[in-house]
Amino acid sequence: MLNVPPQAFPAPSSQQRVAAGGRAKVPLKPGRSLMDWIRLTKSGKDLTGLKGRLIEVTEDELAKHNKKEDCWICIRGFVYNVTPYMEYHPGGEDELMKAAGTDGTDLFDQVHRWVNYESMLKECLVGRMAVKPIAAPKETTSTLSEEKKQLKGMLPEKKVLGASAKGLTPSYDWFQTDSLITIVIYAKQKDMNAELVIVDCQDRRLRGEIIVDDHSYLVEVDLDHAVQEDLAVNIAEKIGKVEIILKKKDKINWKMLGQPLESHNTFIKRTDRGLFYRRCKLVSKTEVTHDTKLFCLMLPKSTHLCVPTGQHVYLKQIIAGTEVVKPYTPVLPFLPLDFKEPSRHDGAHIYLMIKIYSCGLFTQALDHLQVGDYISVSNPEGNFKKSQVQTSEDLFLLAAGTGFTPMVKLLNFALTEVSCLRTVKLIFFNKTEDDILWRNQLEQLALKVERFEVQFILSQPTKDWVGKQGKISSSLLSEFVKRSRKDSKVLICICGPTPFTEQGVHFKMLNQYGHRLHFCSLTEVRYLKDLGYSQEEIHSFTA
Ligand code: FAD
Ligand code: NAP
Repeated sequence: MLNVPPQAFPAPSSQQRVAAGGRAKVPLKPGRSLMDWIRLTKSGKDLTGLKGRLIEVTEDELAKHNKKEDCWICIRGFVYNVTPYMEYHPGGEDELMKAAGTDGTDLFDQVHRWVNYESMLKECLVGRMAVKPIAAPKETTSTLSEEKKQLKGMLPEKKVLGASAKGLTPSYDWFQTDSLITIVIYAKQKDMNAELVIVDCQDRRLRGEIIVDDHSYLVEVDLDHAVQEDLAVNIAEKIGKVEIILKKKDKINWKMLGQPLESHNTFIKRTDRGLFYRRCKLVSKTEVTHDTKLFCLMLPKSTHLCVPTGQHVYLKQIIAGTEVVKPYTPVLPFLPLDFKEPSRHDGAHIYLMIKIYSCGLFTQALDHLQVGDYISVSNPEGNFKKSQVQTSEDLFLLAAGTGFTPMVKLLNFALTEVSCLRTVKLIFFNKTEDDILWRNQLEQLALKVERFEVQFILSQPTKDWVGKQGKISSSLLSEFVKRSRKDSKVLICICGPTPFTEQGVHFKMLNQYGHRLHFCSLTEVRYLKDLGYSQEEIHSFTA
């Protein structure tokens, strides 16, 4: 098993990469875990070789440090000596070396922009770049000098920092009554919904984000006066109008909305926005199995956030003085059995089903959280699109262990809102019976809903187990994954340990050719599209 702390600098090699968006991990030597790295950074050892001095680094100087035994990398204008980190990098030394002596910002952002390198590598900081290196900085800095004027209440000029797919850029306005401030965002797209609007208001700082396809529009201001804690969000779905309603603390007339912050009124690619976190209170922690717990986190009253089906959030904790971030996929509090109405999330809570590993850095710390404690939760991320399900007739969910988590909301969505689905089948791999998450609920659901079927497959069953036994394999899957009719539209969703997911995707190739294809190049995948299961028919959940 791999010891897999978050990768600070990964980029999978073509041979290792199989699952879409997946990434390769290399086994680390003993004594090279994230915790070991944190310990080293706290040891007082001079990790930069500069005895605590910070220097200005020129491009020429940076380029000189391009060897394993002397490796500097620039990320967003800051230069780090990553030589001591080499052996601790979960993606392997070779991956880190791809950015040796250069600006690695793009490479870093491609895979794990959520990893907090500033905290992880703070003891490796050499200094700032004297001149900007090759890669352009992120587009988040707006034409601020122009925008720095106060918002006087009229519609400000739009600051478009990335091209909208349709050329329609959202905009905003605001107005007030004696007791309320209303900010209106015109998303300029139909079918707005609650999942596309994320609002936070903390210490007079308002942040309202609207998701439009793969772009994000942001209103971000330091409010002119104090507001009450709770806020309301109204969405006119059909016309794409979003109202954020704040309650004034004092009934005074506001002359302006407030001071614009750096990313205010920007419309950029979603992936170019930094992750935003808010502190959530742990309100309950209940056992699901012997090692897995359901954590219920309460969002602040001043937050509006609904995590979309198939997406995950990042949790952030300070462990031994270092910020550590890990992804988790919100579930529902239970599997609803009544599918008459689309289930409405209460909006105030996030439920996370988390397996506590006995030697897990993050999950051990999570397990020590007490009810009433707080933890930072990010905005949602993920590339799953509900529309993939809406056009399918057969849905197959292949889950291993906690790889079940994205399937929870997906299952509920499929059975509640997608009437064209004829079969919905969950094939759930676990080690033992005791490991099966929500077994009772799943069995009840299968009894109640005719088109839903669940198959449990155990890899390490006791001799009493009368059900299916084994690990993911072509023969097991070809038994359970079948089109309900010859040309039916299929969606297969896979989630579990990375090698499980890779084998699942690999299965597609086995199933269609009837023989093993060990490494499938993109070209081969393309050739396979017209046969059996196409790449579009498979979704792998990865970070
Ligand atoms: P580490 O300190 O990283 O590892 C310590 C030891 O624990 C390892 O040596 C190994 O023995 C074991 N271990 C750790 N991670 C794994 C692993 N991934 N597979 C197998 N063994 C492991 N987990 C959940 O429980 N619920 C979720 O909803 C969930 N959602 C996720 C969503 C995404 C997109 C991704 C990529 C992962 C998700 N995970 C989820 C896994 C989670 O992010 C962590 O990897 C996991 O909680 C272990 O973290 P740790 O720091 O405790 O373990
Ligand atoms: P687990 O209990 O270790 O394993 C569950 C089942 O998967 C077992 O039957 C196990 O068989 C099998 N399995 C494990 N490793 C395998 C491999 N290399 N090849 C084939 N089968 C394998 O699982 P877990 O500890 O809950 O881990 C769940 C995983 O899901 C984690 O890696 C987590 O990161 C991932 N996850 C990802 C997401 C996402 O969105 N990307 C969401 C949630 C969870 P054996 O008996 O042979 O081990």
